[in-house]
Amino acid sequence: MIPQETVGKIIETARIEEVVGDFVSLKRRGASLWACCPFHEEKTPSFHVDPARGIYKCFGCGKAGSSVNFLMEYEHLTYSEALRYLAKKYHIEIQEREETAEDLEKRQRSESLHLVAEFAHKFFIESLQKEEGRAIGLQYFHSRGLDDATILKYGLGWSPRTRNSLLDAARQAGYKDEYLVAAGLVIQREDGTLCDRFWDRVMFPFHTVSGRVVGFGGRTLKKDHGGMKYVNSPESEIYVKNRILYGLYFAKNEIARSGKCYLVEGYLDVLSMHQLGITNVVASSGTSLTDGQVSLLKRFTENVTIMYDGDSAGIHAALRGINMILREGMNVKIVLLPDGDDPDSFAQKHTLEEVQAFIAEHEQDFIGFKCDLLLEDAAGDPLKKAELINDIADTIAEIPDPIKRSTYTDAVSAKFRVEPDLILSRIGTTRRSRQKPTPGQTRTETPDPEIVPPVQPEQPRAIRDENEILAPGEKDLLAFILRDGSEPLVFPTDSEFYSPDGVQTVAEFIDDALASDDVQFANSAYRATYEAYFERYDAGDDQKAIILHLLNGKNLQISQVVADLLEEKYQLTVDSFSKSLSTKSSWLASFVPRAILAYQDKRMDARISTLRRELMTATGDDQIRILDEIGRANALKRKIKIKLGREK
Ligand SMILES: [Zn+2]
Repeated sequence: MIPQETVGKIIETARIEEVVGDFVSLKRRGASLWACCPFHEEKTPSFHVDPARGIYKCFGCGKAGSSVNFLMEYEHLTYSEALRYLAKKYHIEIQEREETAEDLEKRQRSESLHLVAEFAHKFFIESLQKEEGRAIGLQYFHSRGLDDATILKYGLGWSPRTRNSLLDAARQAGYKDEYLVAAGLVIQREDGTLCDRFWDRVMFPFHTVSGRVVGFGGRTLKKDHGGMKYVNSPESEIYVKNRILYGLYFAKNEIARSGKCYLVEGYLDVLSMHQLGITNVVASSGTSLTDGQVSLLKRFTENVTIMYDGDSAGIHAALRGINMILREGMNVKIVLLPDGDDPDSFAQKHTLEEVQAFIAEHEQDFIGFKCDLLLEDAAGDPLKKAELINDIADTIAEIPDPIKRSTYTDAVSAKFRVEPDLILSRIGTTRRSRQKPTPGQTRTETPDPEIVPPVQPEQPRAIRDENEILAPGEKDLLAFILRDGSEPLVFPTDSEFYSPDGVQTVAEFIDDALASDDVQFANSAYRATYEAYFERYDAGDDQKAIILHLLNGKNLQISQVVADLLEEKYQLTVDSFSKSLSTKSSWLASFVPRAILAYQDKRMDARISTLRRELMTATGDDQIRILDEIGRANALKRKIKIKLGREK
């Protein structure tokens, strides 16, 4: 755990223009900085960085937030990873003092395993450049069409023929046997003796999402390999299969930018496609795809295109992948390569343009894919055709979203000229018969020692105005609180808001007014922000500390709301008729109550329209009760109107 003081120090030290500037080129215009937005495609800059407030905001796509949340969004880091990134950038030492002795031991152990893995990685890379490595390993990579830049970037290596060369080198460098075994690099035999897991193999390192090497795949080049063409690192405290996709570290930005990911089977498929210029490609690390890997991918995109070999093993794996991806609620397409080709060989034989054109032409949804696959068989055989339709219906049944299910149902119905009701009933039966385990039950994930605690960044969403009538008023009140919450509200003695008991702050005044009506904001994002603000306010934090905390907290949605409302360009909807009010305090004293009244007025509107809807179906006594209530609401509205007029 990072101690709270250190989190505070990191947040105060980070300069938004420096953090963003590492990824985007910023141009100065007046007091602020502008760039083309890294989150959406654009030619003219609408991405604004405000150094004074420590926030960024894109006026094109609406993304907004702080340094921490920029890293979470752009680099796809977790909250804790983003803080550690900033600590490293600004040379702030993280003393993990709040740990228990057990935590500390665990972390030190995990750090030791990482160091051992890094040592092995360097050892394999260096071995590739020595005589044996060059003659066999490097020669092999070159023969597979890989250039030196790709070999270097992906850290490919060679494990020497001599048994135990890694074990010996690691011991000499002072690494403990215990960690070499725990990291899966060395095997302990039954008699207690140790030996290297990898020897005489070309080595493919596995990177975590943040770029640390935690495991390896080793491929033998011998023809007679006794069935062990590939040897992979076993799962360990640092290498958790569900958290690794081969190539993801190098592909993640392009996946996010293009909104799409290609899923292939082998390391060489990833490397050749990448070298050709298609960089949003990952593979399932030499093992068959797991549910955990699919949900890892979902952090980056919802759109996956499976690109497997056209042979029967490839087709079988693709069919399995389709179901897993659909089950996660993601969208899946399939590109089947010509028979005999895999993405590696296909990328080698063709230019970038040719590969792109092939994909564009042959990418199909799973219905088309299954039809092509099975229809030939089914042609003219009504029984087989029925089987095919049922098979497709069962796949549709995997999709969690009912609207998507119905869209696909319509497509199948049109394609096979079958009544949609028949397909829907099959889908219904299949869904009911599948005993769905509760979410999480199927996945036994051990926490990643690198991320303590493992925090999944919340998917940022555009702030939807869930209630169109109320949201603008809630936004106004929240803007007052976030901008001037700690300012005192001084009313003249003849004002109806004047209280002889003392002066309230803007935040207290608004909170009291809402509490006396027993009102919570209708918009969930605004409500969450409001509650988070008052949690800190009640704990005694000052305004600046609260804003820093909200901007840089774990909750991306709150961060986005705060950055959005602090941005100067956001105009309050209360009219600014009173230009004569010169001081800030008299301005606040006039406008805060107006904003509250305006909000109450809108709430009455919302109430009345709900009541009117109820009235349409109501009968007898209910009708009278509803009409009564509408009358009371209208009376309240009139009172508010009068107050609004008087407070001018
Ligand atoms: Zn944008």
